[in-house]
Amino acid sequence: MGRDGGADVLTGAEGDWPRPRLLASRCLEFDHCRWNGAVVESRFVRLLADRADFVTVCPEVSLGLGVPRAPIRLAGRDSASARLIQPSTGRDLTDEMRDFSRRFIAGLGRVDGAVLKFRSPSCGISDVRVHSPDGSGGPVGKRPGLFGEAVLEALEGVPVVHEGRLLNFALREHFLTGIYTLARFRAAREEALASRRAGPLVAFHSSAKLLLLGTSQKEERRLGRIVAGSGSRLEEALEEYRAGLGRALARPAGRGAVVNVLLHAMGYFKDRLEPAEKGVFLDCLEGFRAGRLPLSACQAVLRAWNARFPDEWLSGQFFFRPFPPDLSGMEDSGRGRLGR
Ligand code: SF4
Repeated sequence: MGRDGGADVLTGAEGDWPRPRLLASRCLEFDHCRWNGAVVESRFVRLLADRADFVTVCPEVSLGLGVPRAPIRLAGRDSASARLIQPSTGRDLTDEMRDFSRRFIAGLGRVDGAVLKFRSPSCGISDVRVHSPDGSGGPVGKRPGLFGEAVLEALEGVPVVHEGRLLNFALREHFLTGIYTLARFRAAREEALASRRAGPLVAFHSSAKLLLLGTSQKEERRLGRIVAGSGSRLEEALEEYRAGLGRALARPAGRGAVVNVLLHAMGYFKDRLEPAEKGVFLDCLEGFRAGRLPLSACQAVLRAWNARFPDEWLSGQFFFRPFPPDLSGMEDSGRGRLGR
């Protein structure tokens, strides 16, 4: 039996998954609140809506702009000096939007991730066009929207994406891994604080070990030292661990590091395997390293071995089941895959 709420993660038995708490732009599937009364379709937001607890917001509606409304845009001589304006009325909404963003984020509470609308002058997290002050000519630059910028600054160490990134296989899996790992940590943190014991943190770190080794060995060691010294300073240790976990998860796992993790996992079975079985696995690893095979092919071999020779620690590793497998699917925008 693994440690994930009763799930045996390596052998694939389903258990209780935590529900990530996510911030989302309200126009993504939740409400017809775009300037023209439209809603934006996002299959993955729709899928996640059944599995996660969403806090949704439409900053423009919150400013009282109504639906439908005259469009707003960023305008200025350059990106740094851009203002949020409504050209048809001449209103400058910059200070109001900044003030709203500060107040909203202060009351948001802990979230495990955010999905914000691509290229919106309010919600965008990058690539929002900045128009010239008089609206003539092409864009003078690109930058985040004002609300998106405030979210990025405030939610350091939390995965923040736009809905377009969820169309990309590798980026989607990286996002899902991040939000589910943070949701698992949030549950462990609450348990540790309620019991005044470091046990749940120790168990979390143990289950996250292979996942962390696949992303950053340095952070894995640093996080291990925080856990080791957490006994007399639990609250501070939990905060330090959360910050380090965010850093460790910020970059996707590297293919070479993941191969090392898979070899490490094979070590649990190697004395009980036939040379031909090891050969099949090593071929599989080579295929993954070369980008010809998905990670799931190598994981399937380990699953079969673990079914024959069950190992409790390995079974509980988040690495083998970082998020509910039915959430990802195979769809890809074609802009790159890690091949999980
Ligand atoms: S992008 Fe943001 S501000 Fe614009 S409609 Fe969507 S939620 Fe509202």
